[in-house]
Amino acid sequence: MTHWHYRCPTCGSTYAIEPGRYVCDVCATSQRPDEPLRGVLECTWEGDDPALGSLPLPVEAPYFPPIPVGETPLWAPERLRAELGMPHLWLKDDTCNPSGSYKDRASWLVAAFARKFGIGEIVLASTGNAASSMACIGAAAGIRIKVYVPKAAPIAKRVQILQYGAELVEVDGTYDLAFDQSLAYSRATGMLSRNTAYNPLTIEGKKTASFEIARDLGAALASQGAASVRTDTVYRAPDHVFVPTGDGVIIAGVIRGFEDLLRLGWIEHMPTIWAAQAEGSSAIARALATGRFEAIPSSTIADSISVDIPRNGYYTLNKLRQHKGHAVVVSDADILEAQRSLARMSGLFAEPSSACAYAGFLKARAELDPQSHIVVMLTGSGLKDIRSAARGVGLEI
Ligand SMILES: *Cc1c(COP(=O)(O)O)cnc(C)c1O
Repeated sequence: MTHWHYRCPTCGSTYAIEPGRYVCDVCATSQRPDEPLRGVLECTWEGDDPALGSLPLPVEAPYFPPIPVGETPLWAPERLRAELGMPHLWLKDDTCNPSGSYKDRASWLVAAFARKFGIGEIVLASTGNAASSMACIGAAAGIRIKVYVPKAAPIAKRVQILQYGAELVEVDGTYDLAFDQSLAYSRATGMLSRNTAYNPLTIEGKKTASFEIARDLGAALASQGAASVRTDTVYRAPDHVFVPTGDGVIIAGVIRGFEDLLRLGWIEHMPTIWAAQAEGSSAIARALATGRFEAIPSSTIADSISVDIPRNGYYTLNKLRQHKGHAVVVSDADILEAQRSLARMSGLFAEPSSACAYAGFLKARAELDPQSHIVVMLTGSGLKDIRSAARGVGLEI
């Protein structure tokens, strides 16, 4: 038997994973306005471990909607490897998800939870990708979706939301305002919230990429050592993982995944996790240096990582400190240049927020052992924000 529950990493309180539960009752009482969420919960289990090769998740497999999320490729970009002199560089290509972004991993788990408990509606705030993702997965699952998105979100993301049949509320303001409005709505109506970090399943759902990375890296390395013919699954942690970071939920999920893998004994060490941020939206990088979060209005071309207050700030800061993670900050010009050079040298066209991870890797490269195994997490398709990409190639649209 395996028993799952929520646990507060700050005070240790535990809670059932059930509708209506989001944050820790004890720690959320110290919440102040204009700061990251207090009392963010994480999922954990007691009892039997999953069999080697299967995923530990808090919702049973039959509840997952019939749409192929995750299991995205881990590429070996030969031309980039040769050009950079880094023979073990890998690209984790999450642009291949159904709605074109990493967010599908979280939406999938939240939708499975909703189906398990017979919930027919989900509401959330988003800069665009979480909303188009939840709308997509909701369409596959038969769940009604209502989203709060800033009016300025890229047109492709708004079109996706409407194509998938979700209700779109365009907010005359920033993502931070959309977050507050959607939360007020779900509190007033009792509708299930998929707000990032606030719903702990958004973190948990995002851990699955770490399992895929460690499994696929293990398989790639095992097939190179031709002498040792192995039939069992071999997991292997990379040395560095670069993650584009806004609210800090993807990076927290990635860390949770590697924590699980360590707990299970499937890997032997924690990779060094790098939070890649844009200069105009670098709250987590600043907090890693100063220990404090200040709400500074954000401004960057990378809309998916543009947040004034990173909702998962405290949780992620603690995890980065615990595992000796780093942050790297790049300019919008670096991001556009990285977007173009990645597309030209690998064939992978990623949106600016994703390209931020590649730009961060390029900036940190001098500090890395060229023989190390490095994974760059590419989280969103370049087709999601054509206006910014056009700028990068000198087109006016
Ligand atoms: C949401 C998003 C991110 C950042 O994730 P956070 O959890 O907000 O840090 C990065 N890239 C893309 C494409 C995204 O949609």
